[in-house]
Amino acid sequence: MSKTNLTSMTLPALTEWVTGTLGEPKFRAGQIYRWVHQKRVGSFGEMTNLSAALRKKLEDAAFLTTLTTRRRLESRLDETVKLLLELPDRNCVEAVLMRYEHGLSLCISTQVGCRMGCKFCASTLGGLVRSLTPAEMLGEVYEAERQAGEPISSLVLMGIGEPLDNYQNVLDFLTILSSPEGRNLSLRHVSLSTCGLCDRIDALAELGLGLTLSISLHAADDETRNSIMPVNRQYNIARLMASCKNYFAKTGRRISYEYALIAGVNDSPAHAEALSALLGGQNCHVNLIPVNPVAERGTKRPEKSAVQRFAARLGALGLNATVRRELGSDIAAACGQLRRAEADNPDITAR
Ligand code: SAH
Repeated sequence: MSKTNLTSMTLPALTEWVTGTLGEPKFRAGQIYRWVHQKRVGSFGEMTNLSAALRKKLEDAAFLTTLTTRRRLESRLDETVKLLLELPDRNCVEAVLMRYEHGLSLCISTQVGCRMGCKFCASTLGGLVRSLTPAEMLGEVYEAERQAGEPISSLVLMGIGEPLDNYQNVLDFLTILSSPEGRNLSLRHVSLSTCGLCDRIDALAELGLGLTLSISLHAADDETRNSIMPVNRQYNIARLMASCKNYFAKTGRRISYEYALIAGVNDSPAHAEALSALLGGQNCHVNLIPVNPVAERGTKRPEKSAVQRFAARLGALGLNATVRRELGSDIAAACGQLRRAEADNPDITAR
């Protein structure tokens, strides 16, 4: 019989397992859950308010997941820390700690690799290896907080992978993360970024969570978006906008749009005008990001002045847009690059 991953279980699922499979009283589930998600012990032996017999039973039937830090890169320019985290099967993902005025923010990965195929992105170069379990996403948060020595105040699902391509695991992760007996982080402080899997955006809207939805738009016309984001052939811009409007209507949460500026691809005045025409009537915010060049991709970032001109044009057209402040530019490179560098040559990122 394969063992059960306790770190991945929501409190209701754990309660059912503890009472059903183990035949133990219900309150034991709450005790175990708090050991795992609040005290964050790495073994059943440390759960000192459980009897030795119960600890043995748990050991025989279940296991806990913790992640370890394989590399830690600290920016010399700001307080950004990039972590290469090792999963139990030795695959690696990246997480980034960023210091903002309002506190510490963490960016985590949701998959090992990605199958969305965006042309400018490093994470998708080797395709999808596998999706992360809820336990592994929680492990990223817990290990990052251990490394930081303080709790995070906000979280973004914007690292490696497409969160909505790992839908149920991400939802279970968010349930545990936000539960009062678990990590107790309000979903108001969580953003989920997606390339635009519309059926899943619609499903998420029905749940009415407090999440902020961040849409990786990167182009306002189908021709340009098709050429850089294969997902657009399945869900085009009109379909995506319908899902975004529905999400706002159902949740009241303002959508945030990401627009990575790529020289000669989506950065002309006509592109700015198309963007403002598309989003004009919406209560939303646009983040402009000069693209991080990825060696294998051949994408170039526009000159600083061109980025400013693009932003100014959007502003003049009445769109709420800001150029994303760059953090950790000396250590981060494009998202997904550290994991790939590690796979190609385990020594080059060591310090
Ligand atoms: N799959 C999700 C979340 C991960 S990507 C998504 O697509 O939103 C996180 C963000 O980084 C997305 O907006 C993505 O388009 C952007 N991104 C990927 N590669 C980039 C690069 N080289 N430069 C700038 N942004 C990039």
